[in-house]
This record gives sequence, structure tokens and C-alpha cells, in this order.
Amino acid sequence: MCGFVGMIGRNNASTSLSIALAALQHRGQDATGIATLDRGRVHLHKDLGMVASVFTPEVLTRLGGSSGIGHVRYPTVGGGLREDAQPFHTRRPGVVMAHNGNVTNLSEVEAWLRKRSLRVQSSCDVEPILLVFAESLVTANGNDFGTNEIRDAVREVFAVVKGAYTCAALLEVEGKETLVAFRDPRGIRPGCYGKGEDGAWLVASESVALDALGAKRVGDLPPGGLLLLRAGEEPVLVEVEPLPARNCIFERIYFARPDSQMEEGRVYDIRWRLGERLGREWRTSGKVADVVIPVPDTSRPAAQAMAETLGLPFREGFIKNRYSGRTFIMPDAETRAAALRLKLNVIPEMFEGKRVILVDDSVVRGTTVRRLADLVRQVNPAEVHLAVYSPPVRNPCFYGIDMPSRNELVATRLPEEAWAQAFGVDSVTFLSLEGLRETAGRPTCMACFDGIYPVAVSQAEEALIVADRRGPDRV
Ligand code: SF4
Repeated sequence: MCGFVGMIGRNNASTSLSIALAALQHRGQDATGIATLDRGRVHLHKDLGMVASVFTPEVLTRLGGSSGIGHVRYPTVGGGLREDAQPFHTRRPGVVMAHNGNVTNLSEVEAWLRKRSLRVQSSCDVEPILLVFAESLVTANGNDFGTNEIRDAVREVFAVVKGAYTCAALLEVEGKETLVAFRDPRGIRPGCYGKGEDGAWLVASESVALDALGAKRVGDLPPGGLLLLRAGEEPVLVEVEPLPARNCIFERIYFARPDSQMEEGRVYDIRWRLGERLGREWRTSGKVADVVIPVPDTSRPAAQAMAETLGLPFREGFIKNRYSGRTFIMPDAETRAAALRLKLNVIPEMFEGKRVILVDDSVVRGTTVRRLADLVRQVNPAEVHLAVYSPPVRNPCFYGIDMPSRNELVATRLPEEAWAQAFGVDSVTFLSLEGLRETAGRPTCMACFDGIYPVAVSQAEEALIVADRRGPDRV
């Protein structure tokens, strides 16, 4: 999982980019990078670590120019090495690029590149996308290309590279610095654009990056669409290969910030409505409870909505240590267990003697919910009921959200009757698939829940992607 931001038309763009990247830090904490274009020269700095530690004032001063691209990385493939940090740069014809997503046919793309004497050197998916894009531009018209050649290069990327990706690139087009963004034909991964008060143009994975700079969001990048932005000019939006949208529903359930505007709705709002729906479904089960408590922070809107729907008090039972980091992206089980204890502390009075509904966003391996239930049991609740505002995760994601392989998912490993015992709770209620579909309101990608993949992934590619993963758990 990653986040990107691109900017054009503001002096000292790198400082603004670092602020926008800090707003996207939840999308990746392993590595970060910024590349700027400064009178035809590319300045690039990238390193392992978080935005505040990598981009010191001294580093930002060296990244001159009024346009640039920034990136925060959490690797879903590859080993998370420094050389895999983004943005990537190619000298011919001079393009920097960053992305969020996953390529699902890497071996085919590499074969396409090999035929043209090109080799991928990193484990980062943006490199093959960049190479296909750059090769198409060079083949089309050497160094003399315009909007039509950019469109054709993006069309070539869509033809050669399968998967889910939103990309931002910076290059000179018709002699002018141009910020280019494109989104895969199904629009699986998010991307939006907007304008600052000073006229600077921005693209980003989430609108909170625009908010951080006081910029106004104009809209989302359309699926299969290409956007060209230049200082002092109106945006050029080109439909390259649009297909019916299948935006990732898991972004809105868990990953994106609640204050982001995504696919024409506020993430907070959909989490609220999922909580209302979960409340209605829970009521039909005939179970009773005294209090609703969220697993912080993602679940809070859904838990509040569920409590209102059921007419129950909503209480905070866990206090989160803000400085402990996000355990979703901890690399191994031992670190995650320690991180959870550091991260969440229990307020015993909220649980003692009560029938509690614990609301969580999703369950993947089930290990985290088990640890949470064990924490709660230590303060003597009467009953603990787990309510999850998404359906059971039964399938891996190949489109850029890190999830374990099929046989590590608790919903496929254990029969439904065994879940409550495995989680250490009295009952488990997942939102129904129908409830998720109806709340989403229009077709989305929900392959991790229903197994319907909007972009086909062959068994051979699935095996390659799974083998390449580091395999961290989420909590
Ligand atoms: S499979 Fe799940 S996590 Fe992956 S893109 Fe689809 S909805 Fe999102």
C-alpha cells in the first residue's frame, strides 16, 4: 500500500510536498521520496523511514523547483529495500513517476520489456510501468511528443500492464513541465486532483493531502483516465480506456482516512452507514447488550452509528497510544503482539460486568481480535460480542492491499461455528455481503469478500505475488 502526491506551479514545491506526504503517512511508513523538476533537471531524494525523519529542512532545500512528486511506501511486494523506494526516474526521455497499486502480470510485462532490451532492476511495481510508458514515448516520437503521444503511451501501459494502479509522472511535454496522472481502467486504486489558492495543481491518493495544503479538491481521476496539469493552464482530462468502475471498497472500510473524500463520498459517511446497517443486522439476531465499544480508531464512526441504531450507549473502552505506530504494517507476529500491548490500553470500568459489543472494521487472520478479546477478558465483562462492519475476508487481494495468502485467512481456515471460540468471544456478527453491496450503492471491487476479481489473475501470477509478499498481519 502506498500514497503519492504530485504538484506543479508552486515555488519550493518540495516543502509543500513533504507536508502533503505527512497527511498520507497512514498509507505507508517504510520509505518515502520526493523528486522535483528544476529547469529541466531532476532532483531526487528517497530513503527508508517516515516523512518527518527523511525530509529535514536541509534535504528539502536541495530539492529545488516548482513541480514535483512525492511518495510514501509500504511494500506489498518485494523486500522493502531502499532501492525500491519511489519515485523512480528514467533518463530517456526524462520521466519521474510514483504510483499506488500492484501489477498482476509482472512476468508478461518483463517479457515485453526484454524484447526491447529493457530490464527491471527493482522489486517495485512502478519501475515496469515507468519503463513501458517511457519506451512508448521514445518509440513514438523521440523527444518531440505532445498530448497525443502521452495518451498513446498510457494506452500502451493499459494494454501491457494488468492490475490496479494510479500513477503520477512528471516530464516535459511540448517544452513545458507537465504533471501527468493516470488511473487503471477499473479505477481500483484511488486518486484525486485539486487546486491551491495560488493556482498550483495537485494530484494525490487521498484528498486529505490536498486539505493539508489548503487546496480544493476538484474531483477524482476517472477510471482509465489521463490528466495533464501545467502551471497557469486548465487541466486536460483524456478518456483513454474507461471501463465500469470497481473502486476498492476496503479503502473506505479500513485504509483511507475518514476525512478523505473518495469516489464522490466522505469515507466517514460510508463507515457510519456500514455501522447503521450492521446494527440492523445485529438486531435481527436477537442478542442483547449493554454498551457498544469501538476498536480504535477506524471503527469509531461505525460503532457510534451501531450504538445509535440499537439505542445503546457508546463508550470508549480502549485508549490508543498515538506514538506507537500503526501495527498493520509491522513485519512479524512477535513485533505485532508487543505493538498491540503498547498501542491499546483498556479502561476496566467500561467492561466490568457488562455485555459488550466490540466493533471492528475487518478480520483477516483473526490473531489480533483474539489478543484484544484476551485483554478485555482480564477486566471481567459479562459477555463479549464481536461485531464487524465488513463481511469475512475469504480471498487475498492482488491489487495493492497487503493481505495474507488464502490459507492464512481465518474465514477459510476455520468453519463459521468455530470463529467465536477462536476469537475468544461469546458471539461474532459479520456484516452480510448484501449489506456491504447495498451500502456501497454501486458496484465496487470487493473481491477479498466475494471472490469476484475485476481484473483476472492467473494461478501462476497469484503464486508469484504470494511468494513475493512479506506477509505482515493487520490489527
Ligand atoms: S480485493 Fe479487497 S482490498 Fe483488494 S482492491 Fe478489491 S476490495 Fe480492495
